[in-house]
Amino acid sequence: MNRRIRAITVVVGVVLFGGLVSCCANSSSESERPDPAQMVDGGSWYVRERWPHDGNPYETEHLVVYSDGASQQARQRLGGLAEEVWVEVIDEMGLVPATMFKFPAGQDKVDLYANRYNVVEGGGARAYHAGVIIASFDNDIGESTNVSVVRIVLKHELVHVAEQLLMGRWTGNVAVSDPRRMPTWFSEGTGEALSGGTTGGAPRTLDQIEGLIADYGQINPIAWRVDLPPSKVFSSDAYPRYYYPMAQLAVEYLLDPVGLGKSPEDLAAVMLDMGNDVSFAEAFENQIGISQSDYETQFFARMDTYLPQSEFPVEAVTLGLVCLLAAGVMGGSLVWGQRHWPAGASGSLQSEVPVWTRRARRGFVVEIWAFGFITVGFLALALFSIEFDVLPAGTDLALLYAVAAGFFASSVAILMWAIRRGSDRSRRAFLIPPLVIVAAVITNAVIDQITF
Ligand SMILES: [Zn+2]
Repeated sequence: MNRRIRAITVVVGVVLFGGLVSCCANSSSESERPDPAQMVDGGSWYVRERWPHDGNPYETEHLVVYSDGASQQARQRLGGLAEEVWVEVIDEMGLVPATMFKFPAGQDKVDLYANRYNVVEGGGARAYHAGVIIASFDNDIGESTNVSVVRIVLKHELVHVAEQLLMGRWTGNVAVSDPRRMPTWFSEGTGEALSGGTTGGAPRTLDQIEGLIADYGQINPIAWRVDLPPSKVFSSDAYPRYYYPMAQLAVEYLLDPVGLGKSPEDLAAVMLDMGNDVSFAEAFENQIGISQSDYETQFFARMDTYLPQSEFPVEAVTLGLVCLLAAGVMGGSLVWGQRHWPAGASGSLQSEVPVWTRRARRGFVVEIWAFGFITVGFLALALFSIEFDVLPAGTDLALLYAVAAGFFASSVAILMWAIRRGSDRSRRAFLIPPLVIVAAVITNAVIDQITF
């Protein structure tokens, strides 16, 4: 009897888990790629990436969305979002497109190339002169389709587009030795600072900076004038962990009233000056009021007075309290179970109710311990990773906490269900840990979906 129930549980667990896995695997729906004969060779991006489009562009007021086969709905969604973000960028930077923008010949709108199938080297999105290459909302290449993540990436890239429209050229076309070439730190730092950051944001304390330096070495962000070669970029996580967050910090300092108190309009003025063939060094010093070389030599000293050494560890303390609370509730439910279980059993007819043997009691305690271990352990891990992992920018943390709370509630519900259903008599107590594991697997999948 016992063995049969155990076997059924295993089968149920495997079916549930298998269902979950196949459900996740199916989420990127099968699709027909457009007929190659229908594809059009050309487009503003075509000189960079030899990717044809399917001849069905979707046009908005300021943008045109091309694609290699995204659904009409997916390109409308991207176009609508990009339109909204583009207007935001123009407003924040105080731009006057009619007089300030220099479009390439024959183009008067920003092109978006929405990849459903093509993959940009190294992943992510790229901006060029008057265009952005980005994954579509129905992409089959594993890029995020979470709207808040896509919004931040779009904003970062559209800030680059504004920069290049102000300069009237793509930085990659300017020689590295040319003083009119835009330094990478200023370009990426502006994109990150105005978008909120695609890599988790700028460091907020000196402790964080010291941690970064311990991991990657003391690299002066202002010395990041030229992109590193792809082999270096893709072989380490220094770009998303060090270069981008530090460049964001460098530009945030320029914008912060406690720093240099400049505005996004001032950053745009640097770019506009460069469009009039002024060197970056001169444009930067004129508009920002400090020379790039001084900023570079003073950078870490300025950060020493700008940033606090550390912050009160609100997250760690909250996490500790939540775990303590979880353990308390768990302990309470355990005591409740221990008190009521034998009492419930003795209330029925002796002949029908197996005696609460020592072995059964020991088994029950083991299941409860397993339950506690899995629940508290998984909850602590989930909360810890929500709080301290570098999640995609714009991830809805409140939603993640709600999911973690949902896991905890369902775990306790499983325990309560087992106790109330008299898991002693039917010996169903062993169902507790597997059910909690299933709950943990589902929770993990949901968190993955949200943070992906
Ligand atoms: Zn960028």
